[in-house]
Parts: sequence; structure tokens; C-alpha cells
Amino acid sequence: MSEPFEKFLADETVTQTFGATLAAVCGDTALLYFYGDLGAGKTTLIRGFLRGLGYAGRVKSPTYTLVEPYEVGARKIFHFDLYRLQDSRELEFFGWQDYFIPQAVCLVEWPQNGGELLPCPDVSCYIMTSSTGRQIRLEACSPHGHDILERLALARPELHEK
Ligand code: ADP
Ligand code: MG
Repeated sequence: MSEPFEKFLADETVTQTFGATLAAVCGDTALLYFYGDLGAGKTTLIRGFLRGLGYAGRVKSPTYTLVEPYEVGARKIFHFDLYRLQDSRELEFFGWQDYFIPQAVCLVEWPQNGGELLPCPDVSCYIMTSSTGRQIRLEACSPHGHDILERLALARPELHEK
């Protein structure tokens, strides 16, 4: 069992670099949930995640579209933002199961709005404002999630900086 992973993210750049490191250790398949208030830095981290994989285009928040799909090389990444979801049943209409496929990385902001429909993630990430920066805590929720946290503890962020 891996311990939760905690890190202080001093500014936006550090958060993006951490996102890139997370991308480097999570492989082609992962389900990651992101919790934190509006403005906590969830989208910023996910921008770093995609940049780290080599995605050079714009990363915008899918607040109105619910999901933004990306393809980077052979990888499929789906970025969800469920902030505006009124009722978890909307997710059924939306066909969320088409996205949560084993061959993809799914990054979900506001997963709590999906209610009990959504499966357990590999890793839950909690971002909190802390003095002038942010504090992040990652908890593993599956065997793959434990692997991710173990690799994260060994990762050298400077190798993944973009
Ligand atoms: P969320 O998706 O959680 O609502 P965003 O990533 O869209 O949040 O916005 C985070 C905001 O906080 C941005 O304006 C960013 O510049 C600012 N910010 C300040 N410090 C940090 C930090 N350490 N990490 C991430 N964002 C930060
Ligand atoms: Mg956001």
C-alpha cells in the first residue's frame, strides 16, 4: 500500500511541471479524479499534463462541453469538467462509458457531481490553496494507482519539464 503523495506547488509553473511528471508516470491508461475549489488549479495541472505529453495546442476548460478529447501520438486523453452537471443522469445521456475506456487516460474535474455513476479512480488528487501557493495530495484507489504513486515518489521532475 502506498502512502498518499503530498507536495507544495509554489506557483502555476510548478503546478504545470508537476502535471507533466504525473503524465510521465501514469502510462497510457488511467482514471484520475481532481478535487478542489474553483481556481484551485485543476485545469492548470491538466494543462501541464498535456504539455508534458507533447501537446502544443490550446488546453481550454471543458466547462460547457463536459469533455475535451485529445490525441497525442498513440495516446487518447479525455479531459472532463463536470462542474456544470446538474444531475448525474445527464452523464448517461452523454454516454460517459464511451470515454471511460481501458485504452485512454481520463482526467476528471468535479467527479463528485457524477455521483455514484462514476467508477473508482486509480488516483484521487486534492488541490488546496495554501498561503501563496497550492498543496496537492494524491491518494491511490487501485493497484494501478499504487504503481503510479510509487513511480511518482521516485520521479525526478526536472526530467519532465517543458
Ligand atoms: P480550477 O480548474 O481548479 O478551477 P484553474 O487551473 O482554472 O483552476 O485556475 C487556477 C488559477 O490559480 C489560475 O489563474 C492560476 O494562474 C492561479 N494560480 C496561482 N497559483 C497557482 C498554483 N500554485 N497552481 C496553480 N494555479 C495557480
Ligand atoms: Mg477547471
